[in-house]
Amino acid sequence: MRLDKYLSNAGVGSRSAVKAMIKNKRVQVDGVVVKDPKTTTNHDSEVILDGLRVILEQYIYLMLNKPEGVISSTEKNKESTVIDLIDHHQKDELFPVGRLDKDTTGLLLITNDGKFAHELMSPKHKVGKTYVAELREEVSQSDIEKLKHGIPLKDFTTAPAEATRISAKTVRLTITEGKFHQVKRMFRYLENEVIGLHRTHIGNLVLDDSLPKGGYRRLNENELELIK
Ligand code: URA
Repeated sequence: MRLDKYLSNAGVGSRSAVKAMIKNKRVQVDGVVVKDPKTTTNHDSEVILDGLRVILEQYIYLMLNKPEGVISSTEKNKESTVIDLIDHHQKDELFPVGRLDKDTTGLLLITNDGKFAHELMSPKHKVGKTYVAELREEVSQSDIEKLKHGIPLKDFTTAPAEATRISAKTVRLTITEGKFHQVKRMFRYLENEVIGLHRTHIGNLVLDDSLPKGGYRRLNENELELIK
């Protein structure tokens, strides 16, 4: 990565501000004063500004309590994205791990670690995703048995899920796949309709319910161990 990008990603200042710092010989890389903003750096470089080390974090792992009305994407178009909710100087590296529908709320991980995201979402690893689904109609015990057994959708049959009836119209469901609109499609097969969907867990990682809607925080070491 170019030195000016390294410095601005580390939160030191805008691209033009850090270029001026470099031109003014305020920056050293690995013990040498450099004047070229294009100088190559990486996470192992020792970058010093005005005598102080500037560290660029390598990997960032955040848990977001996704609100309704934002899309799980990094694309900058008219719609608000989950990344718009994040205030971080390395924001342009961040992306959501998997997707939740625009109207789904709850646990969404945000990272810059592509390998981690890929492994967590890969169907091979069968990581459970737990949702609380609010339904339009009452759910019968026979519906619960069908969810546990596997639902034949158009393109595939769902793997056996964990399903618990929390109330007449509320179900806790854990699925190991993550196909497009999967939970909504599973209930549609049962001639019902999901009117609210909230993700509470990914594997053993639980959404911190002290986070307000749209709030986020870093994962701590223990939480990272649960999912890495
Ligand atoms: N299943 C859905 O239908 N929607 C989501 O957002 C997640 C799982």
